[in-house]
Amino acid sequence: MATRTHCPYCALQCGMRIERDGTIAGDAGFPVNAGRLCVKGFTAGAVLAHPERLTRPLARNDAGELDPVSWDEALGRITDAIGATQERHGRDAVGVFGSGALTNEKAYLLGKFARVALKTANVDYNGRFCMSSAAAAANRALGIDRGLPFPLEDISGAEFVLLVGGNVAETMPPLMRWFEAQKANGGRLIVVDPRRSATAETASAHLAITPGSDAALAYGLLHLIVREGWVDEGYVASRTTGFERVRALVASYWPGRVERLTGVPEATLLEVAGQLGRARSVMILTGRGPEQQWQGVNNAGAYINLALALGAVGKPNSGWGTLTGQGNGQGGREHGQKADQLPGYRSISDPAARRHVARVWDVAEESIPGPGKPAAELLATLGYIGGVHALLVFGSNPAVSAPDGLALRERLSALDFLVVSDFFLSETAALADVVLPSAQWAEEEGTMTNLEGRVIRRRAAVRPPEGVRTDLQVLCELAARLGEGERFPSAEPCMVFEELRAASAGGRADYAGISYERIDRESGVFWPCPSDAHPGTPRLFADGFPTPDGRARFHAASHQLTAEEPDAEFPLFLTTGRLLGHYQTRTQTRRTPQLEQMASRPVVRVHPTTARRHGLVKGADVCLETRRGRARFVVEITSTVRPDTLFAPFHWGGEGSVNRLTHGIADPISGMPEFKLCAARIRPASEMAVPAAKKMGGSAA
Ligand code: SF4
Repeated sequence: MATRTHCPYCALQCGMRIERDGTIAGDAGFPVNAGRLCVKGFTAGAVLAHPERLTRPLARNDAGELDPVSWDEALGRITDAIGATQERHGRDAVGVFGSGALTNEKAYLLGKFARVALKTANVDYNGRFCMSSAAAAANRALGIDRGLPFPLEDISGAEFVLLVGGNVAETMPPLMRWFEAQKANGGRLIVVDPRRSATAETASAHLAITPGSDAALAYGLLHLIVREGWVDEGYVASRTTGFERVRALVASYWPGRVERLTGVPEATLLEVAGQLGRARSVMILTGRGPEQQWQGVNNAGAYINLALALGAVGKPNSGWGTLTGQGNGQGGREHGQKADQLPGYRSISDPAARRHVARVWDVAEESIPGPGKPAAELLATLGYIGGVHALLVFGSNPAVSAPDGLALRERLSALDFLVVSDFFLSETAALADVVLPSAQWAEEEGTMTNLEGRVIRRRAAVRPPEGVRTDLQVLCELAARLGEGERFPSAEPCMVFEELRAASAGGRADYAGISYERIDRESGVFWPCPSDAHPGTPRLFADGFPTPDGRARFHAASHQLTAEEPDAEFPLFLTTGRLLGHYQTRTQTRRTPQLEQMASRPVVRVHPTTARRHGLVKGADVCLETRRGRARFVVEITSTVRPDTLFAPFHWGGEGSVNRLTHGIADPISGMPEFKLCAARIRPASEMAVPAAKKMGGSAA
């Protein structure tokens, strides 16, 4: 019989069936994808029995090489290193770095392990590099962060959708079924993106804005909506606060100025504003484009302001939402692996939240540490006085995914001790002192929460290879060795989920009424779901906002320049993103022959005019250079990018790592680094050598 489970990759979490012979098909009974999968989903089985799979713990020997060791020795080395580091530098000198790919159960137990077993404040995760700006904007404006506060099916009934900086046709192809239905129903889709992406090709119109001008466009549209009297004044008066400051702010975003800032002609601004203002239902969706900037919170907030002014939030087929990226990017940011958070999306600084969680964990409230360092700061201070000196990484590959990659490798090498749990030897694992082989996706049970806030079940279809353990088993065993075993009584996912339910009860992300049985019966359950009798909440905000006064909040923050504007030395914008055939840092997808064939080398997309000016031809090796370093790419010439902009995917490590070039200046509220924009120049590779990264023992396969 086939096993019904979900894809290991993106936050759409398409339903799939894994047959006994390992073949994979879309699950026609799961409403999100109705049987569709993208090429990554169809080929996901390739990594399960891959020959490079880690099956034994590895530890560094006296010669600096990684050698196989027993679990007992590996775990013993880890607890010895934790003890030595904490004795020398204090408890917070041990840090934990998690992932938006972990199941809810793992994310929950990782946060608890950090606070209860390690007693450190420093736990954070790679979702900071993905969703933190949208999350912060949603929390402060709407009182809650659920990526889409409505089910995907609502897209099909929206009269007008404005999609800003998201490329779902390439990153989540099955999601396009809802846009196809919207089009068939007579709806319009306008895509805002500096690139003419695959999604933009399908749209009614495409606004190729100047990189970094997202908020200026939102305010330019809102200026016209105010001017033409299209603000839903009744909604604004009865359901929101703070609009008058935003009304005053947008007065200075007149069309001529906005055309200069964004590159969008005045006539187009007027046309789009008119369509927004007159539509019966308006949906605004943002992606990483506006969010992965040092003003990411204000960018997302500008589009929330626009949706609120139109009275769209909380109405059918309408509102604002963000398209979560990583597989469990939503659940992973709800249950305590963030530096400032306790389970249920509770604040770690809130005395009532601390009391509740302390009761569930059976610890003294004052023993729970306070807020720790967010990811970018945690990584930037590795090895420094006051920073983290021993780091445990679960399911993440920051050596490739974090900004300013060469500097990060230096910081990782400055650690006293690095532990990585993964199923392949990633670039980060290759730098570790101890590597733990973990179970993956179709080998384990658990829950994930997709981009709609729908909690779903991941089911095991095959047994993990001999010698591999789950992260839950590892955390429980380490906790026992650290003297806290009784507070980590079970590594069974269903038991951990029962504890998560209790810990989240009463929080913003309340899972108390969600059980494995209900998920099976109902094709997933939408949080918040506070009791067994509660139906779950597919649509938020119909009756109010979870803020102290029940109203949504406008935030007036003007558009700012990017942190590093192009200049005479570095005259081009460099922007980064994803390709259809790869996922994150290619740890899995590079080992899937069909996907690797689709894109086996890192390319940089260059406009024909720019290519001519720099003497570049299709297929040539080039160097991109920024103030942080250099990286090597193959030229692809295309008019889908602007003449002032280069596009490179972020999936590669080594010499093709675009994150050697990005900078670490982060949003002051969310901590999101500005992955999407920096100033760069491009030259034929023959004109410059790429410096090799600092050599460490081991190598990523
Ligand atoms: Fe998997 Fe995402 Fe592709 Fe669906 S869209 S098959 S979840 S990678």
